[in-house]
Amino acid sequence: MYNDLERILFSKEQIATRVKELGAQLSKDYAGKNPIFICILKGSVLFFSDLIKEITVPINLDFMAVSSYGSGTVSSGEVKMVKDLDSSIENRHVIIVEDIVDTGHTLTYLIKNLKARMPASIKVCTLLDKECRREVDLTPDYIGFKVDNYFVVGYGLDYDEAYRHVPEVGVLKPEVYTK
Ligand code: 5GP
Repeated sequence: MYNDLERILFSKEQIATRVKELGAQLSKDYAGKNPIFICILKGSVLFFSDLIKEITVPINLDFMAVSSYGSGTVSSGEVKMVKDLDSSIENRHVIIVEDIVDTGHTLTYLIKNLKARMPASIKVCTLLDKECRREVDLTPDYIGFKVDNYFVVGYGLDYDEAYRHVPEVGVLKPEVYTK
């Protein structure tokens, strides 16, 4: 498993520290607002579950799944809803929790889709931001770490559904996806 990683970018400790900081900031910003945290399945599931444990004010949770990548490493730009929310977000403060923002097409789709439901506000919290790859004008409101143009896996992020459970974020060896 670890042989497939070229190097570790963020250790368990680095991730835990940053998640605590984000949780503290979100708790401050959303005090008294009873927001809904939306987990974008499956990539953000580890980040989401650690992040919500750091929130010290009342919140609700919901889950949504979209597909964009298939089994490759290059975004198609096409986004499809696979699972919708269970709850209404009308007049609610919404925080979208993402694993990584790459081209930005997935988030653009999500924000447009959720805005149509008349929430009080929508903000984005992403673990990773691959800003150098952006194809649309979009800046996440809360960012764990910025990453350069690597294909990364671990801490929820997959390649062909593997590596999601790896507790660190690492760079996948190109030979794994080019063989
Ligand atoms: P975007 O629509 O911003 O191009 O892509 C967003 C989605 O692509 C992410 O939610 C994630 O599923 C996938 N993605 C983008 N970059 C990476 C990466 O480096 N590693 C992995 N595992 N997935 C990525």
